Amino acid sequence: VRAMQAHLDAYSAAAARRALEVVQVVGAALVDDRARVLVAQRGSGSLAGLWEFPGGKVEPGEADLSALVRECAEELGVQVRPESFLGEVPLDGVVAGGTPGASTMRLWWGRITGGELVAHEHTELRWLRADELEDLDWIAADRPLLPAVRALLTHL
Ligand code: C5P
Repeated sequence: VRAMQAHLDAYSAAAARRALEVVQVVGAALVDDRARVLVAQRGSGSLAGLWEFPGGKVEPGEADLSALVRECAEELGVQVRPESFLGEVPLDGVVAGGTPGASTMRLWWGRITGGELVAHEHTELRWLRADELEDLDWIAADRPLLPAVRALLTHL
């Protein structure tokens, strides 16, 4: 019994370590008062040139929405107010620092409430209407979220 307990302890310690390594990614579909959404083109790195919703990795101990607000400030120089949750997509492949297959991308829509929009980390920013979204070369993780964003823009 003692050997089995030791085995179980080792197992749950390993599971706990893995759980700590789940890297959550969050994104923001920022909408203006003309029913357009902000999209951003990635600069450096393996996904350079592809389009995405602004966002990034949640830090350990950080709440999803705090990360969302922080990333928008860092990447875009704006304050944002998240409105509601739009959807979640599994990230296949490895998000740096995370357990392969364990990460997801969670998307909220929101409004810009202050600051001056500047592409601090992206090559380009664009405001697009619902019917213009599909034409871009999207990163794989964000493409499945486009129908939800389209529906949002159409019903605002
Ligand atoms: O922007 P950053 O490089 O910190 O993003 C970390 C990871 O999150 C990337 O590997 C990217 O695949 C993922 N990501 C995403 N959708 C976004 C932003 C980032 O899937 N809109």
